[in-house]
Amino acid sequence: MKADGIKRLAIMGGTFDPIHYGHLVAAEGAKCEFDLDRVIFIPAARPPHKTKKEMTAPYHRLHMVERAIYSNSHFEISALELEREGLSYTINTVNAVREIHPQASIYFITGADAVLEILTWKNVEELLNVCKFIAATRPGYDLENLEHTLSCLPRQYLKNICTMEVPALAISSTDIRARVADNRPIKYLLPELVERYIFEEGLYK
Ligand code: ATP
Ligand code: MG
Repeated sequence: MKADGIKRLAIMGGTFDPIHYGHLVAAEGAKCEFDLDRVIFIPAARPPHKTKKEMTAPYHRLHMVERAIYSNSHFEISALELEREGLSYTINTVNAVREIHPQASIYFITGADAVLEILTWKNVEELLNVCKFIAATRPGYDLENLEHTLSCLPRQYLKNICTMEVPALAISSTDIRARVADNRPIKYLLPELVERYIFEEGLYK
């Protein structure tokens, strides 16, 4: 992760198990709408809310993200959460990125489902002080629905949460894993190189 001349950057966090076009469309949409110099994909080690579920080995998730983003010069990947011990809290991740890019305004891209969990996160006030959230629409959470839900939040939170409409892609990693397990197609739900990696490595069987 290089600091050169980056004024506005966003973190795209997720388990990426596997990465799919829903993630990529949200990241590219944010890049354009918020005039970002860079989007950094940071695969999560063990998100606090997913401790019970099994997760694919970090190196597989890292390789899949690398394959998914290689053709986009504004996208990069960071293994900083995977390299850190223990649970990954977003506040620690954002602070680590701030140390590398002290001049940059930092955004955090999430799907609408994830932003609604923000209030349950550790240090939410501190988090909203150091970065702005970009909440992307997701099927089941259209812009009106999302803005209505957000309007119930305390006002000091609201000013640091932006919403963004992206083309609705009813794609989730959960569904992709289930499709692979059932021998149903995943083609066109995720980049071809990622699809090939899943089959070559025998993931999700
Ligand atoms: P899982 O089904 O395993 O939870 P997921 O598809 O939700 O996987 P995550 O890795 O949990 O993917 O998501 C990372 C981020 O991307 C989250 O903020 C999530 O809301 C967002 N996201 C995931 N899928 C979409 C989508 N289809 N459209 C918009 N945002 C999405
Ligand atoms: Mg999810």
